[in-house]
Amino acid sequence: MALVAYVVLALVCLEFRLEATPSIWLPSGLAMALAFRWGWSALPGLGLAAMLVAAWTHPGPIHVPVLLGTLASLEPLLVSLLVPLCLPQRDPFAEIRKLLLFVLLCMISGLLGMWLTGLLLPQVGGLPSPMSRMVGLLSLAPLLLVVMDTPARECWKDLGRLEWWLFLIAIVVAAQLPYGLASLRSTPFTFIVAIMLISAYRFSLPGITVLLLALAVIEIWLPSLSGIAIGARFYGLGLVYVQRVVAYIQVFALLLMVANQERRRMVADLQAQSRRLELMVAERTAELVSANTRLQRLSQRDGLTGIANRRRFEQVLRREWAEAKQRGETLALVLFDVDYFKAYNDHYGHQAGDRVLRQVARRLVVVLRSVRRPLIARYGGEEFVVLLPGLAVEEAAELAEDLRQAVAQLAIEHMGGGAGGYVTLSGGMAAWVPQQGTRAASLVAAADTMLYVAKAAGRNRLCLHPEMDCAQLERSQQQQVWPRIGGRI
Ligand code: GH3
Ligand code: MG
Ligand code: MG
Repeated sequence: MALVAYVVLALVCLEFRLEATPSIWLPSGLAMALAFRWGWSALPGLGLAAMLVAAWTHPGPIHVPVLLGTLASLEPLLVSLLVPLCLPQRDPFAEIRKLLLFVLLCMISGLLGMWLTGLLLPQVGGLPSPMSRMVGLLSLAPLLLVVMDTPARECWKDLGRLEWWLFLIAIVVAAQLPYGLASLRSTPFTFIVAIMLISAYRFSLPGITVLLLALAVIEIWLPSLSGIAIGARFYGLGLVYVQRVVAYIQVFALLLMVANQERRRMVADLQAQSRRLELMVAERTAELVSANTRLQRLSQRDGLTGIANRRRFEQVLRREWAEAKQRGETLALVLFDVDYFKAYNDHYGHQAGDRVLRQVARRLVVVLRSVRRPLIARYGGEEFVVLLPGLAVEEAAELAEDLRQAVAQLAIEHMGGGAGGYVTLSGGMAAWVPQQGTRAASLVAAADTMLYVAKAAGRNRLCLHPEMDCAQLERSQQQQVWPRIGGRI
C-alpha cells in the first residue's frame, strides 16, 4: 500500500514534468504520514518505492538509486523511531502541544535525513536543499495525516457553501502568488493568509484540511501547468519560496484549527457537564418531591388503622368549614367512641384491642365509600371522627346511624362486661351551616357533648345535637319510622 501510494504520487509529479524538488516533496510528505500512522510496517514499501523513483530520476550506476532510496527512507525511519517515544497515541491533532511536537519531529527528521544524504552522497547532483525538504514535509505530512484519519465522507460533509467560496478565492489568489513573490506583502499572499485563518477559525479540522491540501497541490502544480517557467526563473529559490510560504500558512492554520478544536471540545465538555448537572438536579428534585409527598402522606396517616390522623382531620375540617360557610351548605360531624374498650383490652389484651380498632376503621371506611367527599379519621385512642360535607342534615344523620350499626353488625365478641356481648359504638353528632363569626371547633365541641350524652344514656347509640335543623327527622321519629336514633336532648 505504502509502495503503491508513494510510487503513484512520485510518477504523477514526474509526469507533470515537475522539477526534482516537488517530486521529492510530495512523496516524502506522504512517506512521513504513512510512517507516522503505520510505523515500522510501512518502511519496506517506502524504501522500495523511494529506490524506484530514484532510479527513474537518476539513471546511471545502480548504487546511486539504491543509496538514494535507502537514504530517502531515513525520514520515515526516524519518524518510526521518534513517534512512539514522543507521541505514543499518535494523535498530533488532539492538542496544540502535540501538534507542535509533531512539527518539531518533521523538522528534525527532514533535516537529519537531508544532512545524511548530502554527507554520504555528495557527488549526486540535483538534490534539494535540506530546508526545502523539511518545508515540503511540513506542508504536506500533517494534512495527509488528517485526511487519512478522517473517513472520506466526513471530509466533504464538513465543507459548507462558504468554505467552497473561500476555496475558489484561494485558488484564484494562489494562481497569482508567483507574480507577487518579489514582495511578500503583495495582495495575493495577504489574501491567502486571511482566507486560511478565517477558514481555520470557522470550520473543523477535516474540511479545512482538504482545502489546505488542495491549495498546497495547486501551489506546486499551477505554475508549471500554466506554462510559467517557474522552474527556470525561480528554481532553487522561487518554487522553494512558494512552498515555504504555503508551509508557514498551513502550519499556522493547523495550529489555529487545533486550538479552535480544543476550545470547541472544552465548550462541548462544559455543556455536556452542565447538562449532566441539570439532569442530576432534576433527578434529585424529583426524588425529593416524591420523598416529600411520601413523608407528607405518612405524616397525615394513622399508623395503626391506616386512615387519616388527627392532624389531617384538623386540616380538612378547617377547609370544609370555610367552604361550607362560603356555599351556605351544612357540615356534619360525628364523633364515635368504642364502648367499654378499656374492659376489652383488659379481657382480650391490647393486641386484640388493636385488631378491633383496625376492624372498626375498615368497616367505617367501607360504609362511607358511597358518600361524596367524606373524611374519616382516628381522633384519639378508641375514638373516630367522621366529617360529612355537602349532605342534608337528615342524610347525614341516617348515614351516621348506618355507620354505628355497621360496626355493631360486625358482631365482634366482647365478654369484657358492660356491653351486650359485642363491640359497639356510641356517637355524638352536630351538623349545621357555619355562620359568620363561628369556628369549626364549636362543631367538634357540640359533637363531643353529644357523645357524652350518648354514653350517659347507656351507650350503643347515636345522639344528635338539639340545634340541628332536622324537623323532618323529628316527624319521622314521631311516626316511629326512625327508631334508630338512640337519644336526643
Ligand atoms: P367508654 O365506654 O366510656 O368509652 O369506656 P372505655 O373503656 O372505652 O373508655 P376509657 O376512656 O376508660 O378507655 C379507653 C381505652 O382505650 C383505654 C386504652 O387502653 C384504650 N386504647 C386507647 N388507644 C388504644 C390503642 O391504640 N390500642 C388499644 N389496644 N387500646 C387503646
Ligand atoms: Mg374514649
Ligand atoms: Mg370508649
